[in-house]
Amino acid sequence: MPSLPLPSPDLFDLPEGVIYLDGNSLGPLPKVAAARIHQTTHDEWGQMLIRGWNNAGWIDLPNRVGDRIARLIGAPEGSVLAVDSTSVNLFKVLSAALALRPERREVVSETGNFPTDLYMAQGLLAAQGGPSRLVTVEAADLISSITSDTAVVMLTHVNYRTGAMHDMDAITAAAHAAGALVIWDLAHSAGALPVDLTAAGADFAVGCGYKYLNGGPGAPAFVYVRPDLQEEVRPVLAGWLGHAAPFDFSPDYAPAPGIQRMQAGTPPILSLSALDAALEIWEDVDMDALRARSIALCDLFIAEVEVRCAGHGLELVSPRDGTIRGSQVSFRCPEGYAVMQALIAGGVIGDFRAPDLIRFGFAPLYNSDADVIKAAIRLGEILTSHAWDRPEFLARAKVT
Ligand SMILES: *Cc1c(COP(=O)(O)O)cnc(C)c1O
Repeated sequence: MPSLPLPSPDLFDLPEGVIYLDGNSLGPLPKVAAARIHQTTHDEWGQMLIRGWNNAGWIDLPNRVGDRIARLIGAPEGSVLAVDSTSVNLFKVLSAALALRPERREVVSETGNFPTDLYMAQGLLAAQGGPSRLVTVEAADLISSITSDTAVVMLTHVNYRTGAMHDMDAITAAAHAAGALVIWDLAHSAGALPVDLTAAGADFAVGCGYKYLNGGPGAPAFVYVRPDLQEEVRPVLAGWLGHAAPFDFSPDYAPAPGIQRMQAGTPPILSLSALDAALEIWEDVDMDALRARSIALCDLFIAEVEVRCAGHGLELVSPRDGTIRGSQVSFRCPEGYAVMQALIAGGVIGDFRAPDLIRFGFAPLYNSDADVIKAAIRLGEILTSHAWDRPEFLARAKVT
């Protein structure tokens, strides 16, 4: 096996003494992103003022950043835009997909899908006031629930709670065989593992810029439309920057060619430039090597926790088989919220998902075997000593 061509952890500005196992929720700060925000702020916004749109190329930044992401998800150049939030992009692609299957009445999704995905579908279907409905089923029943009435299968590739990964190729093929379209939410896949939207034949995809891609809090998300569908899509969020000629200021909407029509309004250049810089790191990442390291880190954590926390009622809810797991590990844990707070207070940062899951994300770009072992030791100590049983750890904060 070749030595793993993964960049150095030194590329990230992580606080001294912290073991960060929450990059699946908010990636850490790449040093290059901090430098870029400073540069964009001072040299571009400060000095160029409005000339920056042309002179610093701000206007095409959603496309350039989209192309960097495309490489990580098996999408061709020009098929991904970095814009808006995952929630908003989901609304855009779901409305587009439904319009392409007007005679069908069902959106099929998974009961345990991330809530915003289900909420966006519920909101859109309610606004349409039509006969279409959202059908949610357990993961095991997905393929058998796709029928001749299914317009769209809308799924998150890697489950945010358990880390269980769907078979993208098989589900996409089953949906297509039934005449349905497929939307993949790659929030926990992009930057976590190799994805090949083209090979799978996926119709639409969305995903997150602030998780494994390390774009910063609230970084723009991304949207993908299969190239041969792009000209058929008629955006519902028909904004001026998705118009064929925005600076003609025509009163009537005419969609821009290709993926550009999925842009609605003005992009947030400061956050987008941070994401752009963060993505430079990915130019040097071999995704197969990253995946191998990610599986090894997760396997090691499971093994260490099962030894060091034995007898404390933890239950692995992530797949034990790394090939069907994303880059995270979750355990059901009694008093999980307080346990996680105690862990965080001791410098090991993971997170908690109601009602009782403690969740740990692993990112080979900055996590090592030593981190994984230390985190498991610390968790064992907290469970044994009941260090979590203190009022400051039991009180719930707004963000968990
Ligand atoms: C993180 C995540 C989101 C986040 O959506 P935002 O619009 O960025 O808040 C959406 N879907 C899934 C599956 C996620 O994991």
